[in-house]
Amino acid sequence: MASELELEMQAIDRSLLECSAEEIAGKWLQATDLTREVYQHLAHYVPKIYCRSPNPCPQKEDMVAQHVLLAPMEWYLCGEDSEFGFPKLQQANKPSHLCGRVFKVGEPTYSCRDCAVDPTCVLCMDCFLGSIHRDHRYRMTTSGGGGFCDCGDTEAWKEGPYCQKHELNTPEIEEEEDPLVHLSEDVIARSYNIFTIMFQYAVEILTWEKESELPADLEMVEKSDTYYCMLFNDEVHTYEQVIYTLQKAVNCTQKEAIGFATTVDRDGRRSVRCGDFQYCEQAKSIIVRNTSSRQTKPLKVQVMHSSLVAHQSFGLKVLSWLGSVIGYSDGLRRILCQVGLQEGPDGENSSLVDRLMLSDSKLWKGARSVYHQLFMSSLLMDLKYKKLFAVRFAKNYERLQSDYVTDDHDREFSIADLSVQIFTVPSLARMLITEENLMTIIIKTFMDHLRHRDTQGRFQFERYTALQAFKFRRVQSLILDLKYVLISKPTEWSDDLREKFLEGFDAFLELLKCMQGMDPITRQVGQHIEMEPEWEAAFTLQMKLTHVISMMQDWCALDEKVLIEAYKKCLTVLMQCHGGFTDGEQPITLSICGHSVETIRYCVSQEKVSIHLPVSRLLAGLHVLLSKSEVAYKFPELLPLSELSPPMLIEHPLRCLVLCAQVHAGMWRRNGFSLVNQIYYYHNVKCRREMFDKDIVMLQTGVSMMDPNHFLMIMLSRFELYQIFSTPDYGKRFSSEITHKDVVQQNNTLIEEMLYLIIMLVGERFSPGVGQVNATDDIKREIIHQLSIKPMAHSELVKSLPEDENKETGMESVIEAVAHFKKPGLTGRGMYELKPECAKEFNLYFYHFSRAEQSKAEEAQRKLKRQNREDTALPPPVLPPFCPLFASLVNILQSDVMLCIMRTILQWAVEHNGYAWSESMLQRVLHLIGMALQEEKQHLENVTEEHVVTFTFTQKISKPGEAPNNSPSILAMLETLQNAPYLEVHKDMIRWILKTFNAIKKLRESSSPSPVAETEGTIMEESSRDKDKAERKRKAEIARLRREKIMAQMSEMQRHFIDENKELFQQTLELDASASAVLDNSPVVSDKTLTALGPAQTQVPEQRQFVTCILCQEEQEVKVESKAMVLAAFVQRSTVLSKDRSKFIQDPEKYDPLFMHPDLSCGTHTGSCGHIMHAHCWQRYFDSVQAKEQRRQQRLRLHTSYDVENGEFLCPLCECLSNTVIPLLLPPRKIFNRLNFSDQPNLTQWIRTISQQIKALQALGKEEGTPHTTSSKNSENMDEFQLPEGFRPDFRPKNPYSESIKEMLKTFGTATYKVGLKLHPNEEDPRVPVMCWGSCAYTIQSLERILSDEDKPLFGPLPCRLDDCLRSLTRFAAAHWTVASLSVVQGHFCKLFASLVPDDNHGDLPCILDIDMFHLLVGLVLAFPALQCQDFSGTSLGTGDLHIFRLVTMAHIIQLLLTSCTEENGMDEESPAGEEESAVLALYKTLQQCTGSALKEVPPGWHLWRNVRAGILPFLKCSALFFHYLNGVPSPPEMQVSGASHFEHLCNYLSLPSNLVSLFQENNEITKSLIESWCHNIEVKRYLEGERDAISYPRESNKLIDLPEDYSSLINQASNFSCPKSGGDKSRAPTLCLVCGTLLCSQSYCCQTELEGEDVGACTAHTYSCGSGVGIFLRVRECQVLFLAGKTKGCFYSPPYLDDYGETDQGLRRGNPLHLCQERFKKIQKLWQQHSVTEEIGHAQEANQTLVGIDWQHL
Ligand SMILES: [Zn+2]
Ligand SMILES: [Zn+2]
Ligand SMILES: [Zn+2]
Ligand SMILES: [Zn+2]
Ligand SMILES: [Zn+2]
Ligand SMILES: [Zn+2]
Ligand SMILES: [Zn+2]
Repeated sequence: MASELELEMQAIDRSLLECSAEEIAGKWLQATDLTREVYQHLAHYVPKIYCRSPNPCPQKEDMVAQHVLLAPMEWYLCGEDSEFGFPKLQQANKPSHLCGRVFKVGEPTYSCRDCAVDPTCVLCMDCFLGSIHRDHRYRMTTSGGGGFCDCGDTEAWKEGPYCQKHELNTPEIEEEEDPLVHLSEDVIARSYNIFTIMFQYAVEILTWEKESELPADLEMVEKSDTYYCMLFNDEVHTYEQVIYTLQKAVNCTQKEAIGFATTVDRDGRRSVRCGDFQYCEQAKSIIVRNTSSRQTKPLKVQVMHSSLVAHQSFGLKVLSWLGSVIGYSDGLRRILCQVGLQEGPDGENSSLVDRLMLSDSKLWKGARSVYHQLFMSSLLMDLKYKKLFAVRFAKNYERLQSDYVTDDHDREFSIADLSVQIFTVPSLARMLITEENLMTIIIKTFMDHLRHRDTQGRFQFERYTALQAFKFRRVQSLILDLKYVLISKPTEWSDDLREKFLEGFDAFLELLKCMQGMDPITRQVGQHIEMEPEWEAAFTLQMKLTHVISMMQDWCALDEKVLIEAYKKCLTVLMQCHGGFTDGEQPITLSICGHSVETIRYCVSQEKVSIHLPVSRLLAGLHVLLSKSEVAYKFPELLPLSELSPPMLIEHPLRCLVLCAQVHAGMWRRNGFSLVNQIYYYHNVKCRREMFDKDIVMLQTGVSMMDPNHFLMIMLSRFELYQIFSTPDYGKRFSSEITHKDVVQQNNTLIEEMLYLIIMLVGERFSPGVGQVNATDDIKREIIHQLSIKPMAHSELVKSLPEDENKETGMESVIEAVAHFKKPGLTGRGMYELKPECAKEFNLYFYHFSRAEQSKAEEAQRKLKRQNREDTALPPPVLPPFCPLFASLVNILQSDVMLCIMRTILQWAVEHNGYAWSESMLQRVLHLIGMALQEEKQHLENVTEEHVVTFTFTQKISKPGEAPNNSPSILAMLETLQNAPYLEVHKDMIRWILKTFNAIKKLRESSSPSPVAETEGTIMEESSRDKDKAERKRKAEIARLRREKIMAQMSEMQRHFIDENKELFQQTLELDASASAVLDNSPVVSDKTLTALGPAQTQVPEQRQFVTCILCQEEQEVKVESKAMVLAAFVQRSTVLSKDRSKFIQDPEKYDPLFMHPDLSCGTHTGSCGHIMHAHCWQRYFDSVQAKEQRRQQRLRLHTSYDVENGEFLCPLCECLSNTVIPLLLPPRKIFNRLNFSDQPNLTQWIRTISQQIKALQALGKEEGTPHTTSSKNSENMDEFQLPEGFRPDFRPKNPYSESIKEMLKTFGTATYKVGLKLHPNEEDPRVPVMCWGSCAYTIQSLERILSDEDKPLFGPLPCRLDDCLRSLTRFAAAHWTVASLSVVQGHFCKLFASLVPDDNHGDLPCILDIDMFHLLVGLVLAFPALQCQDFSGTSLGTGDLHIFRLVTMAHIIQLLLTSCTEENGMDEESPAGEEESAVLALYKTLQQCTGSALKEVPPGWHLWRNVRAGILPFLKCSALFFHYLNGVPSPPEMQVSGASHFEHLCNYLSLPSNLVSLFQENNEITKSLIESWCHNIEVKRYLEGERDAISYPRESNKLIDLPEDYSSLINQASNFSCPKSGGDKSRAPTLCLVCGTLLCSQSYCCQTELEGEDVGACTAHTYSCGSGVGIFLRVRECQVLFLAGKTKGCFYSPPYLDDYGETDQGLRRGNPLHLCQERFKKIQKLWQQHSVTEEIGHAQEANQTLVGIDWQHL
């Protein structure tokens, strides 16, 4: 880089470099007109430095600018070289106690829920970690950029405003000192001068609007003729549109266009063409033409003169320079602030700051963010000027907001966004309210932007187009500002504040007035509405205002005077709204039970009704405050209580509630979904606090002020039920006359709804002020009712509770009191469960239940009661008393009309056949009776001497009805109903009522002198209940027994099913003993030592194996000659064991896989779900899948979770992803093993024989290689080579397998080759057998690692699928040579053999340091039969296996000794050297001789032996698994259980001496020469001389990277990460590879690369190098784990980070602190180690089809 820059520097005009800062500054110091001098300098140099070429070169430009332009200014400012000047300034400065760090995009920010004044107060990570808040309840978010750290701001924090670092800087003296005292007069004067000139220059040039002209004092004499075509950013056109257009307009490549578009998006503008005016104009017109359409404006393009662009670039540079200079000194900062806010010559709004703000929307993104940053680091960091700036901001507020609303840039790029920094400072907000009347300004500005009104002056949102929605969204930010202003409540009130607040309140009422009654609706009868009316806008407005309305009430509650005034104002406005309340309406008179009332005739179902009544609701809220603050009792004379007309107050809320009831009754079906949605939101947690809840309060207010009989009659009338209850026998007539079932149903629902409303009016007294409760009681009750439905996770619960303006629900403070927390397991979430003692507070008719919730809660609570063997009645809970203002409300329960309604309904129920009635209706009546009894009981219990209990419900219900009905008393009817067979469900409740009735009677009697004996009825009742109870118990017992029997049967069946379909029950393979079958647990030969290989191999009796095809369900025996049975299998490349991730197969065509490097860098893994099919059944299934997919793809062009073209399919039984099949085979060695009829050779002899045989083969091979030779000639020549005895190279063994098995052997072999090497299938390729052996070896190695890591025994119980897979894979690999070319396999054997026993024909084979010995062993053993089959000398296959195994083991020991780390831990072993130690020491000395003493000095024997033993263990374990599966010898029982090392057992099983070194001694003759040949390799020498590395043993298992415990440190790490491709830009989606720890810039154009001809994102590209196509990532911003496989497969997985409530936070929405959950992380690691990631993706995609549609490759 440096040299390149130097080259460029040479190209720079010499004159530029010769500039001397000192000289220029000196000239300026002398100047009389400094401004002119500086401008001349700039006019001359700026165009020479900036914009010299079509492509900007910021690095170079900035360097030269610093040298030529800025350095003189710095010199001027300091009076010396800034290198010395600035540090001096910095030293003299007293550092600020404000942090003020401006946040980068994606940087973590922290807020304290306990101490932050509002949620916008945040800390940077450093400050947070050094603050007291880290131990509080904090919330973590990632910054969207902009905004700064509030550390040190005493107004932002209730406690702990400083972190440790900034605490040191707090001034000891309280008052602010003037920072200028630290500067000398000279510096002050000079900085004032230079700041003024440069700030002025920057503002002038940036706000300059002419395109090809410069301000006069900057015009140059010689003007070039270069122009730029400048493209500007907008938020309307998409990336793709811009890229496409640019390619067309300026003729660039797609890559260049992407570059342009990225810069435009980031900086807000970019020149896309450079040249003469005409040339640029041409590009401009093409772009404009191509991007304009009827709906959208074209992209903004300007043709600008190059010198203007140059000056603008420097202007931006100047602003950031100013920002950095003031960082040295608070004094300089203050001077800059002064300069910025100084009023210019043009008076108002002419200061530099004003000018910038007012042209904000005209500036491009880059310019805006530069000057916003300057404002933040200057004006907002200086407490004095912050205030002055706030005033300027408030004065310009209306203009700035209007600019913002018409601008299209996101809010974070607008100056309007600074409101959050200003308005949330309580002292500033208060100052702006009183001095600038800010509240009123905001509200009025807001109203100005909502101009559409209907004839009554209400808002109208008809024709709500996308554009309007966009604008409306922008307007809403004003509400946010209002919220900021109100968020901190005043602690004391001045008269000014009162006055200005009330003025604001007036404006606010004006706003609400425009909403009162908006969007009115009329019931549609006959046909369905044609067009859904617009409703969303109105509700959005309501939703956004909800908190503001609540906050207005909070403010009012703080001051009695304000409250009284506000109440009056609100009432006045409400009367204005409904001035014409009775106009034109005919008054009518209603009467029931001798009561009568006058009202108007109004039917909700026929006239207009609106759901929006914010004025009424605000009044309701204020009314409650009157009660809560006791203002109502203290100053009744000041309140307009006499003006209140209860019927007027209740009218509109009642209409709204009736509307809901009618909608529920299905009367408004023809009005479409918009109405349904409105009703939904009306009750929803987001709105209800200021909608539904307040309507209930308003009715409560009304009822408490009027005769309850009157209220009930009006209510009946509004519900359109008056007729039914006012006319005796109307019901009977009604149901017999009206045959229309719908209407009957409708009326029933309306009656139910009305009763429900009465229940709510009496029962809902948990708002402080309505009932005698506090806020805690309210929230407790909410939680109790939520948890009555079901146990809930923390986040679920939070969602169901209303949040206040600080996003708090208040839940944490009470949750402990009402619920238990249950921790989460490995999956799932932590749950809160209701404490049993809270169940008694359950109210079935809780007003915030939805219908569905209500019935769920009812069911859950009844179930709970049954479990506790209680009766199932759900009586109303005991309620807190009403506040005095609402106290008379309870009388509604004992009012005559109420009793009449109850009696009527009970009557219907008694004569149940004659009437239309419903059980719900009855249930509600019973509930109401219950409530009344509870009320009376409480009154009696709390009665004091002087008070008479006026609540006499029990007396009233004991009296029979009056004439003309003469109906029985309510009590009598209840007694009748108690025995009604059709009311079984309600019996418990009726019984409860009767019991309570008696209890009350006793209470009353206890005060009277003569207690009456218990009535007969009660005794009767009691005994009958006992009988009932016994009967129920007996029935329950019978039921229990039956259930148990069924359960037993079920579990038996289930066990079978689980055994057969294990995979269905475990998606990942759990190596748990409980869930798996025990392997080979039938001890065939228990007493003997078991030997897995060699001549002494334990002979196992032949076991016949029968399997069932999952497709045709036929059973078949596995035999050599029968049709093939296959296992579904999935082959994949793997780097899980890789020790070198930089290595991958570069050129598969040329890659030779014969020798596996010990770094295991590119393996092939085979897995299976273990499901068995006939080969032909599978073939048929696969063909049909293929055909189906082809049809589907043509038709729908959809992706699937599997790629048929690549041979993928889903297992037909378990849907596990598979891409081939493995044939099931019997142990193949048995087939080829001939009888031993001679003495078996020892290792030395055997090696000699094999070497001879190899020589013979090679000689023959050469012979064959020459043309014109025939086989006959060969046989003639044989004698010449002196063929070893019994060796018959012309012998061709017969393949014993059936055709079908042969075919499957080829199929799987080809698949392994195809996947492992990523080549087109070619069954003739000589590498096919090698790949098969390799996959077998690799799969065994990976299992061995997993078992070791988990400390599981080697032969412990394995899941069937794994056991089956390994057995089949090993046997397949062993049989594969029979379908390959004999000479090819022989060739492989010779080459492999030569790596250990060198021959003349194989020159450059890898040295033993570079061979993985287990792969070598598997290759040799499995290739050996190809040679042995031609050997008729009597040497058995088993002997060969044994010798091969011993030979490889010896080589491995030498490998270990060479690579073992000789560093000692200094600890000497005391015990005398054993046999092993001395043997290994001797061997080591031999080795030293062979290597020419290059080996370091001799370590102690015990140390060597320990290294060998530890190093060789994995190899021995793999070998044991391999021979076990190959030969089918059962494993020794000792090795089936975990325990200490089984080294001896392992050696025995493998037919090895447990002193391994004795192998060398036994075969002394050959040992020495072998060791010599191995050590003479040049690579060994290089290694010993330290010139190269080698793998050391034992290889450590690969793990996923370590993750930090605290998630925020990951966020911080990622926020410092910038895109590696676009020079220092912050990455938008930083993503961490969990395998290697690389951070990637994902999901972004900048980092796309080409892979196999397709554009892929950084993650996909990374998977190809790091994980052979499979990757595990953590998306840091989203806190989400991403699995990727290939280009098309992927899924999200739950992250291993949990909050304290045991929940994950995908998307980081809640911001609770997150901590690493080790168990979950281990689970992910296990998925990876077990190669199950692809399978997991498959299952996820099958379960969720939307995952299939995601473009995973672009991530
Ligand atoms: Zn900070
Ligand atoms: Zn701090
Ligand atoms: Zn705190
Ligand atoms: Zn079959
Ligand atoms: Zn399966
Ligand atoms: Zn990686
Ligand atoms: Zn990037």
